[in-house]
Amino acid sequence: MSGRVWRNWSRIESVTPARVAYPGSPDEVVREIAAARADGLRVKPIGAGHSFTGIAIAPGVQLDLRNLQGVVRVDQARNRVTLAAGTHLYRLPELLAPYGLALQNMGDIDAQTIAGATSTGTHGTGAAFGGLATQITGVTLATADGSLLVVDEEDNADLLDAARLGLGALGVLVDVTVQCVPAFKLHAVEKPEPLAAVLNAWEERATGPDHFEFYWFPHTTTALTKTNTRLPMDAPSAPLGSFKRWLDDDFMSNSLFSAVCGLGKAVPGLIPPINRLAQKLTNNREFTDVSTSVFTTKRDVRFREMEYALPREEVPDVLRALDRLINQNNWKISFPVEVRAAAPDDLWLSTAHGRDTGYVAIHRYYKEDPGLYFTYAEQIFRAHGGRPHWGKMHTQHAESLAASYPRFADFRAVRDKLDPQRVFANDYLDRVLGA
Ligand SMILES: Cc1cc2nc3c(=O)[nH]c(=O)nc-3n(C[C@H](O)[C@H](O)[C@H](O)COP(=O)(O)OP(=O)(O)OC[C@H]3O[C@@H](n4cnc5c(N)ncnc54)[C@H](O)[C@@H]3O)c2cc1C
Repeated sequence: MSGRVWRNWSRIESVTPARVAYPGSPDEVVREIAAARADGLRVKPIGAGHSFTGIAIAPGVQLDLRNLQGVVRVDQARNRVTLAAGTHLYRLPELLAPYGLALQNMGDIDAQTIAGATSTGTHGTGAAFGGLATQITGVTLATADGSLLVVDEEDNADLLDAARLGLGALGVLVDVTVQCVPAFKLHAVEKPEPLAAVLNAWEERATGPDHFEFYWFPHTTTALTKTNTRLPMDAPSAPLGSFKRWLDDDFMSNSLFSAVCGLGKAVPGLIPPINRLAQKLTNNREFTDVSTSVFTTKRDVRFREMEYALPREEVPDVLRALDRLINQNNWKISFPVEVRAAAPDDLWLSTAHGRDTGYVAIHRYYKEDPGLYFTYAEQIFRAHGGRPHWGKMHTQHAESLAASYPRFADFRAVRDKLDPQRVFANDYLDRVLGA
């Protein structure tokens, strides 16, 4: 045994791998796969461990890709950048700056690796924008048979919609080519609004601006909306002052919120008044900054999360059902519900496959048992046609998921071809894809 205990960010999952390897090149990845097979061990690459599920659990050989980072090559004519698979998203502003490029859209943090994020279908918000995997135009995959397989528009193109969102089930990504866009700024407007009005106007709100999302604190009737408009890079900046950013994003969202969650766990009856106070303390904010500074924030308070992708029009009814569920059971929920939108796409296992999508995410402080809140909320999500985020908590399995994804059988056939011996399997993949 390696003796090294690995834990994911939310501290739900842990494992002591038999061996940990740190390959520094594609050829070393191939060698590690061959060595693992010779020892009868399975292989699993890890990213930043930010998935809430056991998708990255590696009881056999854990491939830690910290030595596989950075820019591999740039196609300036097409704004495409090939990144080593272990590159963290927070490095992209520095790596892409010399080329004047940026990611088209991002989720709400940048701790993930490019390979981990695309493999689980990580997304941001914006009804006209797909998740990160839709921005991937090609990958190089180290496969179970010891080869390096290029998958892009020219080579093995029939595998592209499986390989760029592959749950880590098809092989080890050694590099990923991203379709970037010219660097841009975002004008952000953040304000509290009546939840009922936001839900009644959900379709216009989700589809009108470039990027719209909102948070709803249970036990309140207020939505904290965030509306971001894309601007060219030469638009004047009006960033948050560093004290204001610290106060809102560090102190209010992390330090104070952590203390409040601890207090709420000890005395749950305090949660509804605390949530009402938190929503009153939330100021209107308006600022303009480079895209990465607006899309992403720091998340220091650990939590557990379930997120479902829904047909977009179902979002208002789902929110109303969650409100009824919490009230009827008299639960005290300190963490907000997050609501976002994304464009339909063609990726076989994308949660936005083939439909305009609304995302609803529920959270609980990591020291609290998500318990019946997650169980019953998941029943609501499923009743409204929901598909679970691959990196967030859920209880679905291959049979129930097959009914949600028209190309599920095709994905399994590719897996059978590329990994017949299940070198890249683990318990989570056995559950969601079958053994
Ligand atoms: C605080 C927080 C905020 C989040 N915000 C968002 C958000 O806004 N939007 C959203 O959609 N999700 C969000 N997530 C979820 C997160 O983006 C995904 O779970 C993502 O997979 C994490 O990336 P990672 O690098 O940590 O990958 P890991 O969790 O380490 O791994 C995920 C999967 O990718 C596989 N993998 C990693 N590297 C490779 C490789 N080289 N080749 C093949 N497979 C590989 C792993 O084996 C595993 O199966 C958030 C999570 C947290 C904890």
